[in-house]
Amino acid sequence: MSTKNRGNIIMKSQAPLLIDTFGRRIEYLRLSVTDRCDLRCNYCIPKGFRGFQEPASWLRFEEIERLVSIMAPLGLRRIRLTGGEPLVRRDLPNLATRLTAIPNIDDLSLSTNATRLHDLAAPLKEAGVQRVNISLDSLRADRVAAICGRDVLGKVLAGLEAAKLVGFAPIKINMVVMRGVNDDEIDDMVDFCIEQGFVLRLIEAMPMGATGRNTQYCDLQPIRRRLQQERGLVAADVPGGGPARYMKAPDGRLSIGFITAMSEHFCATCNRVRLAADGTMYLCLGQREQLAFGPLLRRGASDEEIVEALRWAMSLKPERHEFNEKPEKLTRIMAATGG
Ligand code: SAM
Repeated sequence: MSTKNRGNIIMKSQAPLLIDTFGRRIEYLRLSVTDRCDLRCNYCIPKGFRGFQEPASWLRFEEIERLVSIMAPLGLRRIRLTGGEPLVRRDLPNLATRLTAIPNIDDLSLSTNATRLHDLAAPLKEAGVQRVNISLDSLRADRVAAICGRDVLGKVLAGLEAAKLVGFAPIKINMVVMRGVNDDEIDDMVDFCIEQGFVLRLIEAMPMGATGRNTQYCDLQPIRRRLQQERGLVAADVPGGGPARYMKAPDGRLSIGFITAMSEHFCATCNRVRLAADGTMYLCLGQREQLAFGPLLRRGASDEEIVEALRWAMSLKPERHEFNEKPEKLTRIMAATGG
C-alpha cells in the first residue's frame, strides 16, 4: 500500500499522531537491528551471556521498512540505528537506504562502537546516515580492553578517522563515566574532542540488569559544575533528538552533553520509543511496558491493525523510569532493548 493510502487510513480512523497519555509527541525511534555485539562492556552485556535472540526472530528489512512507513505519517521523523552493535548486522546500508527513502524520515543516525566503522562509514554515509554516535570510554588501550573485554582502541580510532573522512556531522563520542575506572580521564577526553572536532557526551550508568547495577556509578552533577566553571561553558543547542543537555565553550570549539538519567532525569521531554531486533516495542528504557510488533508483521496484519497497535502502544508509555526508586526492577540489559 502506498504512503498516500496509508495517510487515508489514518485520516479515516482519525488516528492521533504518535502522542502518549502525558501529551508527549513521539517522533524518534531507536531501532535495534540485532541484540548481539562484538564487545562485552562491563556495564552492558554480561560475560558469557547466552540469552541472545535467535537471528530468525529479527525483523527483516522489509518488515522494518513497512512498520516505519506506517509510523512516519503519524509523526515519526527521526531514526537511530542501534543494537547490540548495529554494524554486526549484515547489509546495514541497504536498510539505511530503505529508511531514508520513506517520506517524513528526515534524520537517520547511528550508534556504534566503531570497531567495524572503518569499512562501513562510506557505504552508510552514501545510504543516507547523517550523524554517528561512537562509544569510547577511555583513550588508554589497556582500559578499553578492561572495560570492553577486547583491545579495540586502534580499530575504534580508525573508525573515527573514517567517520571524519566521509563527513558525518556531528560526530559524538559517548563516554559512560565510572567512578575509579575512567572518571580521571574526562579532561583528556575533552581535549581529544576539541582537537578532533567531536561532540563529547558524558553518560551516567543506569541500573539495567546486574551489569548496569554493579557499575561504579558516577554522579555527573559535580563534574558538570567543575567543567562549567573551568571552561566557561554556557547552555547550547546541538543537533539531535536525544536526552543530552548540552553546553559549549564560548569559542565554540567544545560542545559537551550530559546524559544524567540518574541524577536529573529528563523523562518529561521523552520523545522516543525503542524497537528491539525482534520487533518488540519498549515504551521506556527503564520500564517493562512493551508491545510485540514481530508477530503482527509476520502474520500479515493490515495497516489498520498496526495503526491500532501503535495507538495502544502509546497508551502504555509510562510517565518516567524508576531507576532510582527501584534499581532492581529492570533485568533487561541495554543491548536487548536497543541503546
Ligand atoms: N553498540 C552500539 C554503541 O556502542 O553505541 C549501540 C548500542 S550500545 C548499548 C548504546 C549505548 O548504551 C552505548 O553508548 C553504551 O555505552 C550505552 N550503555 C550500555 N549499557 C549502559 C548502562 N547500563 N548505562 C548507561 N549506558 C549504557
